[in-house]
Amino acid sequence: MTDVTQTQVNHWIAGERPAGNRTLDVFNPATGEAVRRVTLGDTATVARAIEAAREAQPAWRDLPPAKRAQVMFRFKTLLERDADEICQLVAEEHGKVLEDAMGELKRGIESVEYACGVPELLKGEYSHNAGPGIDTWSNHQPLGIVAGITPFNFPAMVPLWMYPMAIACGNAFILKPSEQVPSTAIKMAELLDEAGLPRGLFSVVHGDRETVEALIDAPDVKALSFVGSTPVARSIYRRGAENGKRVQALGGAKNHAIVLPDADLDNAASTLIGAAFGSAGERCMAISVAVCVGDETADALVGKLADQARTLKIGPGTEKGLDMGALVNAGHRDKVAGYIERGEQAGAELVVDGREHPLVEESKGYFLGATLFDRVTPAMDIYRDEIFGPVLCVVRVETFEEAIALINAHQYGNGTCVFTRDGEAGRRFSDAIEVGMVGINVPLPVPVAFHSFGGWKESLFGDLHAYGPDAVRFYTRRKAVSQRWPQRAQQESAQFNFPSN
Ligand code: NAD
Repeated sequence: MTDVTQTQVNHWIAGERPAGNRTLDVFNPATGEAVRRVTLGDTATVARAIEAAREAQPAWRDLPPAKRAQVMFRFKTLLERDADEICQLVAEEHGKVLEDAMGELKRGIESVEYACGVPELLKGEYSHNAGPGIDTWSNHQPLGIVAGITPFNFPAMVPLWMYPMAIACGNAFILKPSEQVPSTAIKMAELLDEAGLPRGLFSVVHGDRETVEALIDAPDVKALSFVGSTPVARSIYRRGAENGKRVQALGGAKNHAIVLPDADLDNAASTLIGAAFGSAGERCMAISVAVCVGDETADALVGKLADQARTLKIGPGTEKGLDMGALVNAGHRDKVAGYIERGEQAGAELVVDGREHPLVEESKGYFLGATLFDRVTPAMDIYRDEIFGPVLCVVRVETFEEAIALINAHQYGNGTCVFTRDGEAGRRFSDAIEVGMVGINVPLPVPVAFHSFGGWKESLFGDLHAYGPDAVRFYTRRKAVSQRWPQRAQQESAQFNFPSN
């Protein structure tokens, strides 16, 4: 059984579980009860994790990549063996429903599978006779020690975007998971240990801003992967860059779906409901705005959305067969409810009000029903801001071009989708839209593990996207080696001109 059944969730450093004086309560969002306490790390904790990483990484770097991949193969089978237990932890601390937790875990396992191919991915490039008698090759070398800071909303998947590939590439990795959902990371650390990963290569340091800043300021940490809200992403990107680090910082989102008049409206409504309200809207790829082209489309779609939104099955995430669980904490639930109030005051038409769901009154958990607004305008803050809750806004426009312009003008550019049966419109959309991940009749276009994930504009700071091929580039540095073997007897004269072919 794992340590997380105890009430204190401590760090994981080289197989030890150090505690500390600073702690924070961890809540079960479905009951509102504190279920554990998490230890929060400081500079000394980070230094301890770095020390363990420094000791372990050189030998790991020098292993053949195929040996490193073997650990990932074992890790994958252990994740599958303990999948139910992991999903239970995710549902209990995050609030999402078990089936959804299984979905995120499976997506995370796909990143482990991709990391199993690391010998192929690190092969590099080779040119025979790049110059006269000169051979040149480029290879990828690990950076050393790298760190990841992750959000509350995907306790299993988002960390799995990072450390399997970072470690498979030959690095040591320090994870600072969200302090709201700390137990999944510890479970993963135990499984990596069981898979045979040498100790010190993967550490979990729990914490908050203080812990994160210690990681950013530590000279030994060469790169930072961050996923979270945009203000924090921006500040981490800045501070990391000032400290000379490589940083990828993925931020927030406001994902629009365009519904064209020729779309299959029944299917569009069903998939939109899932994309808007799955995980209570606490997904960076959630669709939170439906842009309907033409009033006829809007009237028909809003009717279908409202019918489905009113009948969602909502309850504790740890119960089976539900559509939506609780929000992550009381403050966040109140913030989302505040947006509903402000949307109403700003003149949007409140078609379904999630505050009226019986669980809001009856339960001590952080529940809110599905909310649907119609006739939302771009000036309203329910349109501009990321709400990160179960709130879907419908905006009405006259033309397809108007819809594209609306999306392109938004500060965020994470994901988007168009619903249509017209191939020409789909192609025009994918070309013209200024968003990093695009779906054509696919409302959650989260790329599979062998592509990379990343938004544009305020949704990502940095150059390289998360997981997939970009992760290999992010967690390694390129080295180009040129080699020649002059003939022994040949006398060479000095060359003062820049060498060229
Ligand atoms: P958050 O920004 O509050 O926290 C993310 C991480 O940063 C946590 O580990 C937290 O402890 C740490 N942190 C918080 N404040 C900090 C500060 N001031 N300085 C340093 N570190 C700090 O985000 P969250 O509420 O946990 O997650 C929700 C957000 O994450 C949403 O905005 C969502 O869109 C975004 N998100 C984005 C993606 C993506 O791929 N773009 C994926 C998942 C979530």
